[in-house]
Amino acid sequence: VRSTQDYRALDVAHHVHPFTDQKALAGKGVRIITRAEGAYVWDSDGNKILDGMAGLWCVNVGYGRKELVDAATQQLQTLPYYNSFFQTSTPSQIELGKVLAEVTPPGLKHFFYTNSGSEANDTVIRLARHYWRVKGKPTKRTFIARNLGYHGSTLAAVSLGGMSHMHALDGQLLPEFAHIAHPHYYTQGAGLSLEEYGLKAARLLEEKILELGADNVAAFIGEPVQGAGGVYEPPPGYWAEIQRICRKYDVLVVADEVICGFGRTGQWFGSQTYGIDPDLMPMAKGLSSGYLPIAGVAIHDRIWKEINEGGALAHGYTYSGHPASCAVAIANIQLMRSEGLVERVREEIAPYFRKCLQELAASHPIVGEIRGVGLIAAIQLVKDKQSREIFTTQDDAANFCRDVAANNGLIMRAVYQSMVLSPPLIITKAQVDELTEKARKALDETAKKFGL
Ligand code: PLP
Repeated sequence: VRSTQDYRALDVAHHVHPFTDQKALAGKGVRIITRAEGAYVWDSDGNKILDGMAGLWCVNVGYGRKELVDAATQQLQTLPYYNSFFQTSTPSQIELGKVLAEVTPPGLKHFFYTNSGSEANDTVIRLARHYWRVKGKPTKRTFIARNLGYHGSTLAAVSLGGMSHMHALDGQLLPEFAHIAHPHYYTQGAGLSLEEYGLKAARLLEEKILELGADNVAAFIGEPVQGAGGVYEPPPGYWAEIQRICRKYDVLVVADEVICGFGRTGQWFGSQTYGIDPDLMPMAKGLSSGYLPIAGVAIHDRIWKEINEGGALAHGYTYSGHPASCAVAIANIQLMRSEGLVERVREEIAPYFRKCLQELAASHPIVGEIRGVGLIAAIQLVKDKQSREIFTTQDDAANFCRDVAANNGLIMRAVYQSMVLSPPLIITKAQVDELTEKARKALDETAKKFGL
């Protein structure tokens, strides 16, 4: 164990952080997180912080769950590693498939395992193109996704995603990826009912398919609720229309469940919340509640036949279905079931969470709207509630608000000019009260800083 100062110095010397302007941390340094329990983490200075982000949208069952630790330990002692390339499987790989098939939506019964959501989406791209080739339609290769969609950080997943600052890092997208606008009623829906807007937003997909030519389009991909881009829930009718359009033009439907999966929206998968019937369904994060890395792609029966008939998949990772990660995932799903966590989100804690946030929004001068569903939310920061003028990047209200909150014992994520929340599914009502109070204080200070 080192002093906080020593940790910070070593971090500066050696650790390159994802998505972090490390220059901006000069003289201040990172916060060193040293332990966690339930819905809280502790830093090296002893501060207890309510984790409003469940790590990075992943620690669904909360920290310190012995069942998951025991599952990993037992597996590591019995068989720490074996691959699934050599006409071999391990019991935990096999068992995970059975358990997963019991909770995934109908037909999604075949699973390819990866280590991360990014790799799951790379796998989706390869599987979809392979499927169309086997079907005799090799020109169907382009993926259509949405602006502000986040699908990961590998080269292909970045191109699939709709984050312009990520595209800028390497200068340009890979070919055969296209994007349409993401739905956001608050900023785009003026003069329309929610339902009218939902249809209008979905029809951008039809326009894009016609522009590209349906013969060239492999799939549409979307997060049931857009997460890392700022939590945009779909307007009513949006996904039904997306699906109708995809079926009409023979375009596969991919629901990226990396954040929405495993209870976050109040169902096992966001696809169930919105009536989506995906052909391919990438998942990660909540699959193991982040205790060990594991992700995967669920493949629907209706496309599995062709994929299976196409011969050996020339694709895979050393740690595809790592035995210990599989064991943890099984224990995680069993724990979620035995504690009824998905039902708890839907019926008990999410309605309370949303009520608290709505009350906060109604009474606060810089909160424009609350977005989201279940236990995923964004608090939109605005300069002017009436005109809906959003803070600019230069104002940087969100990062200021984030830092005030963290120093006061609450982790929220700043995404553009929204404060994002995705707490562990085990959060109690008292902890939701604590979260709301701490968020309110951070918002108050932010309003004061901007003279509002
Ligand atoms: N897809 C979605 C919807 C995500 O939110 C993320 C990560 O946040 C990913 C994919 C990428 O997952 P990973 O970070 O495990 O590669």
